[in-house]
Amino acid sequence: MGPGREKSGGISEGSCRHCINITKWMPVLFIVTVIAWSYYAFVIQVCLITMQETWLKILALIVYHIVTTLFLWSYWQTIFTCSSRVPRKFKIPQAELELMEGATQDSEIFEVLNRIVRSNELPVQTRTNLTQLRYCEKCQIIKPDRTHHCSVCGYCILKMDHHCPLVSLFGYHCFLVTKNRSTLESFRSPVFSHGPDKKGFNLGCYNNFVEVFGDDKKKWFLPVFTSLGDGISFPTRHIVNTSNNGNYNSLDTTDSSAASGNSPDHCVEVKVEARTELRDSNANPHGPSVHDTRPHKESTLR
Ligand SMILES: [Zn+2]
Ligand SMILES: [Zn+2]
Repeated sequence: MGPGREKSGGISEGSCRHCINITKWMPVLFIVTVIAWSYYAFVIQVCLITMQETWLKILALIVYHIVTTLFLWSYWQTIFTCSSRVPRKFKIPQAELELMEGATQDSEIFEVLNRIVRSNELPVQTRTNLTQLRYCEKCQIIKPDRTHHCSVCGYCILKMDHHCPLVSLFGYHCFLVTKNRSTLESFRSPVFSHGPDKKGFNLGCYNNFVEVFGDDKKKWFLPVFTSLGDGISFPTRHIVNTSNNGNYNSLDTTDSSAASGNSPDHCVEVKVEARTELRDSNANPHGPSVHDTRPHKESTLR
């Protein structure tokens, strides 16, 4: 989500909020200024004034305008694409919240959370470091896998990465796409019921790429939404189907040899199934947006 979509907290929050909003737009202003300057320098000074050969002039202008149009289109999408909110079924009901507030031990809190996950059949595989379910106190939700609270937006973001107004670190994010890893996950491994696993969502280079860019090759270089999946449940390298029975605990125990990476044959099978699974579950055209790991739609380290 870009700065234009930040949720306004209301006028009562005062000028401080406005200062923050203005600050958020500064990098965008910087980028637009750089583009405007580059347009003047290249199109006017280089192409129209300096270049002599007409064919070279036309070729340079065509290439420049194609690249610039794709860049501005991508940048627009980065800023103005709205990120999906966590579905209501992940919300912790009021009665359960009161139970959690009155709890004297952590185990009571996690008992409540486990109950909600079971009754709502939530496809949750990842845990906190304590191997307990992840939840957000601010949003009062159980966090779907790869969801994190964004302090800039003020709510939980599906497949959260980070904000990057300078759209920087292109090469690094290409690397992350090939590994199916968000920046957050590269700094802190997601924890499954068998333990932390940095490679947990890695389905192989090509499948990882397809999960983010989609399986229609014609659209790979266009900034339109083509990612596979629903942003809530993700196939992992050892478990593919995350939502068929709602029994989230059984998922990580079906094949311990594959989980430890000792079964290459199984892994190949899983990769094929994973792609099918992703395609079948591609039901949300407005799924995770700029917070995901598409390199051309990245947003800034916070
Ligand atoms: Zn955000
Ligand atoms: Zn949250």
